[in-house]
Amino acid sequence: MRNLLLMLALVLSVMTARAASPADTARARPAFNVEAATQHYLDTLTPAQKARSDAYFEGGYWLQLWNVVYALGVAGIFLGLGLSRHLRGLVGRLPRPWLRTWAYAALYLLASFVLSLPLTVYEGYVREHSYGLSNLTFGAWLGETLTSLALSVVFGSLLVVALYAAIRRTGRSWWLWGTAIVGAFLVISVAVGPVFISPLFNKYTAVPAGPVREGILSMARADGVPADNVYYFDASKQSKRISANVSGLGSTIRVSLNDNLLRRCTPAEIQAVMGHELGHYVLNHIPKMLVFFIVLLAVAFRLVDWAFGWLVARYGPRWGIAGLADVGSLPLLVALFSVASLLATPLTNTIVRTSEQEADMFGLNAARQPDGFAAVAMKLSEYRKIAPTPLEEMIFFDHPSGRTRVQSAMRWKAEHLSDR
Ligand SMILES: [Zn+2]
Repeated sequence: MRNLLLMLALVLSVMTARAASPADTARARPAFNVEAATQHYLDTLTPAQKARSDAYFEGGYWLQLWNVVYALGVAGIFLGLGLSRHLRGLVGRLPRPWLRTWAYAALYLLASFVLSLPLTVYEGYVREHSYGLSNLTFGAWLGETLTSLALSVVFGSLLVVALYAAIRRTGRSWWLWGTAIVGAFLVISVAVGPVFISPLFNKYTAVPAGPVREGILSMARADGVPADNVYYFDASKQSKRISANVSGLGSTIRVSLNDNLLRRCTPAEIQAVMGHELGHYVLNHIPKMLVFFIVLLAVAFRLVDWAFGWLVARYGPRWGIAGLADVGSLPLLVALFSVASLLATPLTNTIVRTSEQEADMFGLNAARQPDGFAAVAMKLSEYRKIAPTPLEEMIFFDHPSGRTRVQSAMRWKAEHLSDR
């Protein structure tokens, strides 16, 4: 997930030169050039591997834009072509307003899914396979996609009912209540996600016994994380991507390592990744991110409220929207939110990337495996561009780029050469 007043500038660290005293010279460090060591890692990627990685990741920039353009097209079908009016006619006979809102929302979510399916198939299945990143057959992929749809129809429609109840009761201050409702929903989903949602897609078990497990659990204990909260899951059924994450809130918080990581990485690399994940855990990144996102949500709601009023005053009758309290306004609200979230991407990415960088620093100190960390950062180039421009990294990266990570690791190494 993804301060608010955080400066967006990720400037290169300025080396503050200190006049060398005779004592410094006496215990001068062996020569270790951070930049040369970083470049040495970057050079392990062949030009073909780099071109492929860049193409995959840069294609993702455009996909973000196409997703919003497509979403606006879908909104056009609902509003301009009258699909929304038709759905409202279908649910109009239901006896209670909340029941009509609920049925409209469920039909809206299903129809949007069907209309968006071509883009979803391309993005989630065709493109992933063309880059060799997915292990799912079409049937298995569709099964997972339909599971997600079922979750979004069941819980999304209830969220819409709560939101419209707030809109109808609270008038002008609806956006504040809307933020509270969606915020509460977000907190609950993060808290129950690892227990009820993740097991629908993967099997979570204890980390297999062996020296690797002991290394992982020893580091967890040293950082005050209970060993019971470290899991292992079968991500290889979906893809060959190496990854790990921290999820949950309160009593459900846990570190999960995927089987690709354990299979494809050396013990030093696994320690390095585990150190990073422990950083998220110990630095309380999940609660902090939730606070940032809920504040951002309030800003988005307020802006959407303003844009909605402006648009409905002009096009309301043509689009069949009587006002905000009319559930027929849902397609417009969703379209406005998708535009707002696209515009907020550089900010949300920077918020998330900053906490990822904190976890990187924590991980280097906890695992003390700078070369392991640099090697994993290089492996992640399978799906993340290795050396973007600073502006590109600020706008599009929700994790530090491979180069930034290798450089951080080599800087750490340079300052700890005399430890061994
Ligand atoms: Zn992370």
